Amino acid sequence: QLDWNGKKVTVAGLGVSGIPAARVLHARGALVTVVNDGEDERSRAQAAELEAEGITVRLGDGATLPTGTELIVTTPGWQPDKPLFAAAAEAGVEVWGDVELAWRLRGPGAAPWLAVTGTNGKTTTVRMLASILEAAGLRTAAVGNIGVSLLDAVLGEQEYDVLAVELSSYQLHWAPSVRAHSAAVLNLAPDHLDWHGSMEAYAADKGRIYEGNQVACVYNVADKVTEDLVREADVEEGCRAIGFTLGTPGPSQLGVVEGILVDRAFVENRQKNAQELAEVSDVQPPAPHNIANALAAAALARAFGVEAKAVRDGLKAFRPDPHRIELVEEVEGVTYVDDSKATNTHAAEASLAAYDPIVWIAGGLAKGATFDELVQRSAKRLRGAVLIGADRALIREALARHAPEVPVVDLDRTDTGAMSEAVREAARLARPGDTVLLAPACASMDMFTNYNKRGEAFADAVRALAATGDA
Ligand code: ADP
Repeated sequence: QLDWNGKKVTVAGLGVSGIPAARVLHARGALVTVVNDGEDERSRAQAAELEAEGITVRLGDGATLPTGTELIVTTPGWQPDKPLFAAAAEAGVEVWGDVELAWRLRGPGAAPWLAVTGTNGKTTTVRMLASILEAAGLRTAAVGNIGVSLLDAVLGEQEYDVLAVELSSYQLHWAPSVRAHSAAVLNLAPDHLDWHGSMEAYAADKGRIYEGNQVACVYNVADKVTEDLVREADVEEGCRAIGFTLGTPGPSQLGVVEGILVDRAFVENRQKNAQELAEVSDVQPPAPHNIANALAAAALARAFGVEAKAVRDGLKAFRPDPHRIELVEEVEGVTYVDDSKATNTHAAEASLAAYDPIVWIAGGLAKGATFDELVQRSAKRLRGAVLIGADRALIREALARHAPEVPVVDLDRTDTGAMSEAVREAARLARPGDTVLLAPACASMDMFTNYNKRGEAFADAVRALAATGDA
């Protein structure tokens, strides 16, 4: 255990991870200064509260390194190219993120971590994994961006046998010494490149999750970069590379054979060369990308020694979080699905691959993305498209280039009420048997507070349509 007494620690940023970090370190006797770029009513209130507890807070100057700083603990959102970190490097001061802090504060005999990262599917996979571990009778929690915070899980009263940990690329960037029992990178597509600086840097940060793994590095056979990252990682002796695939699995892989999830990596019975785990229909929703998530979760659980039956029970008990390919209602033979969480093109492509024919509702803030590939790959399944939001022209132009025959309704509005009109227009385009799919491929902040609100607006409009025949 580290001796924090009198150690001068600078916490970079208030907010959901900065404030708890400051409190925990202060409680251990560290001399904590929180620095924050901005200054507004909210941060002033937070600062006053922390100051009353004996923690120093400096608002409106996040660039200057406080004199005598021995360690920086940063909130994961802070971009690595910030001046504070340049000053830290110059002064030879280490920087830890919230995950590194939790890792270092773990007590002796603490629960091992099964860790998950990837561009899309992290939350879903971690929740599936926790469900499987629970079905195996293990004391566990899904931690990270969901449910219990990592610090609480590590420091709280509750005891765990194993933790299912979601790690973002930001968190991994600042987590140099974390060592998972086993870890998975689900997929890698360009996202958050402004933060990391380049695709290479983004991939390298994701790849950190494999460093020091003890039992298994789980990779996506269909996404070669993930396998490359395993190869480059420095792992414990005996740690295995385990692939997952939607096709027939090779040795040391999990995959799908005739509608059954099959494990060829961890086979208990030496007479057999494969272990059946569950049926595809046990997984909700049974969309291809989600089967991939289930295989990754199963691989991590199997690496931890969980038996096949618990994998099946855990997957059956799993229910997806709201706004992730959520079935809202069927109205006049048309199915309405809310995938508001599809905030980038990679996620939208996954849900567009799961239905046919589709009336697609899309648009919002594009965050620098291009839509050509997405439209090319999905065009043949589109009955029509309804576009909303600030950057809808980018999608309209991609549709015109690659799917000129698909009817497009371009709603020239960015107000919240536009969702009702979008649902009405989609209902007009749809025929019985079709799916109306909200998979925006964009962030929501041009029209809504967040993707939850966007999904709720969609679901409300669909329910109104069901009740009154008008959205
Ligand atoms: P994350 O925590 O990585 O943001 P979520 O599980 O919350 O991931 O899912 C985010 C979005 O990505 C959802 O819209 C979902 O439909 C889509 N998605 C989930 N799993 C995958 C996957 N394996 N590949 C591509 N897209 C996915």
